[in-house]
Amino acid sequence: MTDADLVLLGAGGAGTAVLHALAHRDLTTGLPAPLRVVVVDPVPDDSAAARHRTWCFWAEGEAAVAPAVHATWRHVRVSDPARDLVLDLDPFRYHLVRSDDLAALTAERVRAAPRLSVERVVAAAGRVTSTTAGATVQVGGRTLRAALVLDSRPASPARAGSVWWWQHFRGWTLPAGALPAGVLGAGPDGRPVASLMDFRTDQPAAGLSFGYLLPLPDGRALAEYTEFSPARLDDAGYDAALRGYLARLGVSPDVVPDHVETGVIPMTDGAFARRSGPRVLRTGTAGGATRGSTGYTFSAMLRDGEAVADLVAGGALARPGAVRLPPPYPPRHRWMDAVQLQALQAGRVQGPTFFTDLFDRRPAPQVLRFLDGTTTLADDLQIMSASPTLQMSLSAGSDALDRLRRRVRRPGGEQGQPVPVRTDR
Ligand SMILES: Cc1cc2nc3c(=O)[nH]c(=O)nc-3n(C[C@H](O)[C@H](O)[C@H](O)COP(=O)(O)OP(=O)(O)OC[C@H]3O[C@@H](n4cnc5c(N)ncnc54)[C@H](O)[C@@H]3O)c2cc1C
Repeated sequence: MTDADLVLLGAGGAGTAVLHALAHRDLTTGLPAPLRVVVVDPVPDDSAAARHRTWCFWAEGEAAVAPAVHATWRHVRVSDPARDLVLDLDPFRYHLVRSDDLAALTAERVRAAPRLSVERVVAAAGRVTSTTAGATVQVGGRTLRAALVLDSRPASPARAGSVWWWQHFRGWTLPAGALPAGVLGAGPDGRPVASLMDFRTDQPAAGLSFGYLLPLPDGRALAEYTEFSPARLDDAGYDAALRGYLARLGVSPDVVPDHVETGVIPMTDGAFARRSGPRVLRTGTAGGATRGSTGYTFSAMLRDGEAVADLVAGGALARPGAVRLPPPYPPRHRWMDAVQLQALQAGRVQGPTFFTDLFDRRPAPQVLRFLDGTTTLADDLQIMSASPTLQMSLSAGSDALDRLRRRVRRPGGEQGQPVPVRTDR
């Protein structure tokens, strides 16, 4: 007898995406009774400050989480010291979702779902074991038995790569009026443009940096300083770098932000395990949903949520045997990410021009599809032809050698660094 059909370890982005997908799925087929879900996370749901994140992603057509979307842009800027590109993303739109809004939407949809019952346990989960018949989780002196466990707790890669960088950033929400008029301008449709990557920031000794600027519907703006690099900054370092970017935009040095968000996301060619037992699947960053070359994760988490809902509605939980989820990204895209990260690490390509060249030479929708892992092989070849081919090929060679060296040295594999716990405030 199980205590739950599904246990979610972690109520962050990945846990929320699964609940959201289950809540809007028709669960009248494949299940003899309402689905019993237990969500375990030591951070209480009402701890808004600890949970708050600003998630951006792109989607074609209406976003699955449309009611939680706070802002949307069709035109975006990518700039370096020599170029200022205004890109039309159509048929895609770039969306901003605040985690609090998504959590509220999900809670509302869960309450309205007739065949879904969700219990919340505020505690840190301990040991998890599983067989092909089910899984158990130790939590707060209790043993929870479930048909399937989805684990999004922070985890190290199962196989270390040769690059371990961070995408790390600090963002300030600037009060209305703080951004001088006309900084971002309007797109051809007359609507505000978002700046996705502005490489006219001071570049770090290793890696790259860029500014990110999103005009918000209430007249405020989200401005961030972001680095892709091996070492994180301290508090004063982030503030100084962000102030440097804001000064370039003409923002007053006396500006006081309405909100501060700091983030650290792993960028690695290491491989995260998709499962840790026949009935324990990993999701979110811990399950490889973070794209190594960009840090974008949100869309892959939504796809995972839908894949879990497919499994449930298809009756997979009731059948004995191992349960599987598709990989977050196709293997050849993971390989291309590895090549890119290694080329950046080795200094074979210059970060700022690498990204601007890509958007300059290929249509923006194709680049976005590539970053989502949904391009065809023909698309991928075109994307590769827009990158510095010789340097990338050298990197590919070095990647192959590196894998071979690691396999020879450590036939059993090795552990990478752990994914950091949330650092936003
Ligand atoms: C500030 C910030 C902004 C980001 N913005 C974007 C963006 O714009 N677009 C994008 O695509 N990606 C973005 N990302 C990357 C990614 O989308 C987020 O990191 C996302 O939150 C990942 O979801 P997750 O569930 O894997 O991890 P988390 O959201 O961190 O959730 C993990 C959960 O596990 C819980 N946990 C830890 N230990 C235990 C335990 N023992 N038992 C039970 N639970 C436990 C934690 O409390 C946490 O709630 C951002 C990341 C950060 C940090």
